[in-house]
Amino acid sequence: MKGFLRIRPSASVDGGPRTDRTARPEWTMLELSPEEIRSSFVNCPKGETRRMHLPTTMPLLDWEDTDFLGWVDPKAPNRAYLVVDAGEHPIGVALRLPNGNRTTDYFTSMTCSFCVTVHPAGGVRLFSAPKPGKAGRQGDTVGLYVCADLACPLYVRGKRESALIQPAETITREERVQRLRVNVDRFATRFLRSAD
Ligand SMILES: [Zn+2]
Repeated sequence: MKGFLRIRPSASVDGGPRTDRTARPEWTMLELSPEEIRSSFVNCPKGETRRMHLPTTMPLLDWEDTDFLGWVDPKAPNRAYLVVDAGEHPIGVALRLPNGNRTTDYFTSMTCSFCVTVHPAGGVRLFSAPKPGKAGRQGDTVGLYVCADLACPLYVRGKRESALIQPAETITREERVQRLRVNVDRFATRFLRSAD
């Protein structure tokens, strides 16, 4: 199993001042800065990575327990981002949500392909990731059905719960975490291979 992300603080996220760092000593364990996050993206122009808004709740997560970073841009709700650990360096994947596309809401429930959490309608969205390289510039994408809030690491650890009762599973929480990591790893491998 590969190593997993460790995020370290920088002076600010999105330029805002950090006044509460002393309250979060766990930040001293972190290793990836917002600047490194921005430079990790493989499928969107540099201009977008400069303009993207990092999640405002980032420092509230326990990064020791994070399998990947995932967030919807707080100021551009049709844009979302994943940063996965690819071993020696992180890989950022820009995701898109079609404007006004609510087709997934026709289903009464859907299952996240990363964490296998069952959500009510709208709790799983179809994200599309422009492929890396020329294929992506020509409009080719890879689809991904995952939790709309991209909070899979929290769901598998029982730190956030779906509104639906989950099907009974005999696996442990640790096994659910491992399954999530395998699923994310598979997606990242498939995505990188999708380049032209
Ligand atoms: Zn999920």
